[in-house]
Amino acid sequence: MFEFDEVPLPKLGLTGLEGVMSEEELAIQGMAHRFAAEVMRPIAEKLDKMDHEAAVAEDSPIWEFLEKIEESGLLDLAAIAGMSNEEKARIIPIIFEELAWGDSGLAMGYLVSKFPAFAAYNTGDAEIIERFGHLRGCWAATQPDRGCDLVDIEASECHPGERQGRGNLVARIEGDEVVINGQTSAWVSGAPIAQSALLYSQFDDGDGIYNEDGSHKYVGILVPFDIPGVTKGKPLDKMGMRALCQGEIYFDNARVPLKYMIADADQGYSSFFGALTFANMEMGISFTGVARAALDHALAYVHERKQGGTEIINHQTVRARLFKMHQKVEACRAMAKRVFDYNYGPNGPHLLASATSKTYVTDTCVEVCSEAIQLFGGNGLTREYPLEKLFRDARASQIADGENNMLGLKAATWLSKAYKDKNGL
Ligand SMILES: Cc1cc2nc3c(=O)[nH]c(=O)nc-3n(C[C@H](O)[C@H](O)[C@H](O)COP(=O)(O)OP(=O)(O)OC[C@H]3O[C@@H](n4cnc5c(N)ncnc54)[C@H](O)[C@@H]3O)c2cc1C
Repeated sequence: MFEFDEVPLPKLGLTGLEGVMSEEELAIQGMAHRFAAEVMRPIAEKLDKMDHEAAVAEDSPIWEFLEKIEESGLLDLAAIAGMSNEEKARIIPIIFEELAWGDSGLAMGYLVSKFPAFAAYNTGDAEIIERFGHLRGCWAATQPDRGCDLVDIEASECHPGERQGRGNLVARIEGDEVVINGQTSAWVSGAPIAQSALLYSQFDDGDGIYNEDGSHKYVGILVPFDIPGVTKGKPLDKMGMRALCQGEIYFDNARVPLKYMIADADQGYSSFFGALTFANMEMGISFTGVARAALDHALAYVHERKQGGTEIINHQTVRARLFKMHQKVEACRAMAKRVFDYNYGPNGPHLLASATSKTYVTDTCVEVCSEAIQLFGGNGLTREYPLEKLFRDARASQIADGENNMLGLKAATWLSKAYKDKNGL
C-alpha cells in the first residue's frame, strides 16, 4: 500500500507520468525540448505554409534547421555508437519524442538523412566512412510500382498464383562496379536536398531479377549523388509532414565501386529488414511526441476557451475527452518504449516489435489529433491554430515507413510464425 499524510496534487514530468530519470536523461530531454520549441516549431510552421519548391530553395529555412541541429549534437553518431544497448533504449526515445513534438517532418527527415552514414559506419571500412560519413543522405527503397510490395519482404501477401511485379529499379555488376538504372518513388524523404542514398534495388545477376520462389533478388548500395547518371525529380507537394521534402531519384547507368554494395543478394533483404525495423521503432516514439503535442495544445485551450458560462474544461464531457487523450498518449509512449527495450534487449530486434508500436501509435495519434481539433471547435480547422497541421502530419504517418495495414499483415504473420516455432507446429 502507498501511504499519504494528505492527498497531494499529481506531479507530472515534461511528458506526463514520468518515472525515474537520471540527471543526464533529464538534461538531454530538456535540451531536445528547448531545441524543438525554439528552433523546430517556428521553422516547421514556415515550411508547412511554403510552396513545396520554395521549401528546398537556397533561401529556405530548412538550411537553418540543418545547421542548428548539427551544431546541437543531438544526433551525434559517434556518441550513439558508444552507448550501451540499455542507454540507447532509454536515450534515443527521449530525444525523438521531443524532436517530433517539435515537428515530425523535420525529425524524421533528419533521422533518415543519417541512414547512409549509419550504414557506412557499420561497414567499418575507412574509405566508405570517409566517403559517406559526412554526406547528407536519404533512404531510397520504394519505387513507383513497388510500395507495399517492398514491405512485404517475403512476398507472402501476393494474390494466389501471382508474383510481385518487376518494380522500376535494377542493379547489376560489371567488372568491379555496380551499374544502376531506373527510378525511386517520389516518396524518398529528404531526396531533394540529399547528397547520397542508402539505396535498395532489385538485382540482376545475369539470370534475371527473380529467385526461383518468385521473390526478387535484392541488394543494398551506398550511392553518392555527385556521380554521372544520378538526377532528381521535382519536390513532391503533399498534405502532411510538409517540412519533410520528398522526391524521386533517377539512375541512368549510374556506376559505383562494387565495395559500395554494402548488402549483396544474400544480405539485401535482411539489410532492408534492419532499416525498416529501426525506422518503425522511431516512428512509434516520434508520433507519441506528435500526439502529446496535440494533447498539450488541447489542454491549454480548454482552460482558456469559454462557452456555457465557463472555461470549457469545467464541462464534464470535455474533461472526459481530455482524459481519454491523455490515456492514449501514455499508452503510446508505454508501447513505444517497450519496443525500444525489446529491440535493444536480448530477444530483439525484430520488425514484429517495431510494427506493433508504429501502427498502434500512428493510428492512435490520428485519433488524438482529431479529438484535439474537436475540442478547438472551428478554430481547430483554421491554419492560424496548430491542430490542423498536426492532424495532417499524423495522417501521413499511417502510410510513411510502411502502410499500416500491410505492416499489420506482416506483423500478424510473424506472430503466427513465432507461435508455430514455439509449439513445434
Ligand atoms: C511521409 C512519407 C515518407 C516516406 N518516406 C519514404 C522514404 O524515405 N523512402 C522510401 O523509399 N519510401 C518512403 N515512403 C513511401 C512509403 O513507404 C510507401 O508510401 C508505403 O510503403 C506504401 O506504398 P504505396 O504508397 O505505393 O501504396 P500501395 O502499395 O499502392 O498501397 C495502396 C493500398 O493497397 C493496399 N495493399 C497493397 N498491397 C496489398 C496486399 N498485398 N494485400 C492487401 N492490401 C494491399 C495497402 O494496404 C494500401 O492501403 C514514404 C511515404 C510517406 C507517406
